[in-house]
Amino acid sequence: MLARTLDGEPLDRVSAGKLVASLPDPNIFEQILEAAAESKRRGKGDIVTVSKNIFIPLTNLCRDRCSYCTFAKQPGTPDAHNYELDEVAEAVCGGVKTG
Ligand code: SF4
Repeated sequence: MLARTLDGEPLDRVSAGKLVASLPDPNIFEQILEAAAESKRRGKGDIVTVSKNIFIPLTNLCRDRCSYCTFAKQPGTPDAHNYELDEVAEAVCGGVKTG
């Protein structure tokens, strides 16, 4: 399944579900990691890219738990808030300063 996917065959929902269900198996997990690394090599080689964009959130509130945004706070927690205009301006000025 991983080899076919690496060769460009789309991964259907059922197959993706089987992979997810297999994650606790360390052998399968290792094969998935290797396939992911190979996919990256085939697509981008060893090139690492950097985006010069800045991201200015207007709030750190998030009621989900995906944990992508490391600054996200659950509503009702002490540090959760919407940013004030001076905080946003400070972030913009920092972005301008660093180019
Ligand atoms: S933590 Fe996840 S769900 Fe919440 S804002 Fe960030 S990306 Fe979206």
